[in-house]
Amino acid sequence: MRFLITGGAGFIGSHLTRHLISEGHKVLVLDNFSTGSACNLNSDPGNALPTVVDGSVCDAELVDDCTSQVDGVFHLAAAVGTFTIARKTIESLRTNLHGTEAVVEAACRHRVPLLLASTSEVYGLNPKAGLTEDDDRVLGSPPHSRWSYAEAKSVDETIVHAHVVEHGLDAVIARLFNTVGPGQSGEYGMVIPRFVRQALAGEPLTVFGDGTQVRCFCHVLDVVPALVALLLDRDARGEVFNVGGSDPVRIEDLARRVLAITGASGGIVHVPYDTFFEAGYRDTPHRLPDCAKARARIGFRPTCDLDEIISSVVADQRAHALTRGG
Ligand code: UDP
Repeated sequence: MRFLITGGAGFIGSHLTRHLISEGHKVLVLDNFSTGSACNLNSDPGNALPTVVDGSVCDAELVDDCTSQVDGVFHLAAAVGTFTIARKTIESLRTNLHGTEAVVEAACRHRVPLLLASTSEVYGLNPKAGLTEDDDRVLGSPPHSRWSYAEAKSVDETIVHAHVVEHGLDAVIARLFNTVGPGQSGEYGMVIPRFVRQALAGEPLTVFGDGTQVRCFCHVLDVVPALVALLLDRDARGEVFNVGGSDPVRIEDLARRVLAITGASGGIVHVPYDTFFEAGYRDTPHRLPDCAKARARIGFRPTCDLDEIISSVVADQRAHALTRGG
């Protein structure tokens, strides 16, 4: 089959690109290389390369042209990372809203199935342990730009859902919970690549706040086949699925595990949120998914535990010590 991957040069997109090509599919990547990188796409010698279009997902004509050439679309292009959202709020909103509108309309017009990569961030401050797809969103006040990512992604989900209902769009939504693995940059905020880079550089690990906040991390190689299975499963259409790990960890304990695995001696430093974010920034204290729906539908079951996830990032950063920021 032929697939369009918007954001195909990004962290998850490039893993998905390699996975689809290794399964014998053809891939068209649309990426503006704002956070993605051409290096992400070149790392499998011997395998076919994707066709790469350097352009914006907000360019509706370009998106339409790309969509006309494929049998399915993975929409992963987005402004990502807490640092990006905080520092480039307007541009992030534009990408995350107008880009999705263009992709959804093109998929509708060409009648091709679409997967929207959404985010666990839409649940916001909902404290429930084991968030399920119908749970409420609990968000702070709109002037806090921190919520704009959740707002935009929630509207994206609504745009997709409305096109399913009103125009018969064939679409599925995956809400991703803290996806991690080789190739992810810490430059935009993501905690594991940041901690690993800091540890390998002998710097203290910057735990934001008191470190009691809890996350579940999931290896990108567990996530990618789930995205493919969801897009290809006719019975998943019109539905939302959580896709995430099952191993909750406090960020302070995560830092300790990174120190133990790397053997680093730089220690841990607690950093107030307002060093990096606006005053009054509110982090999500708990974010734990219930993935029973994806398990029942496509047999989703993550295989990598947290130590394996951390070790894969350590190995990757050791191999690319000079080429990635954080
Ligand atoms: N975090 C941290 N130190 C860092 C980067 C992130 O303590 O250098 C924390 C962040 O405040 C959050 C958690 O790690 O509580 C996960 O952050 P990330 O940006 O990876 O994902 P989020 O869950 O916030 O979307």
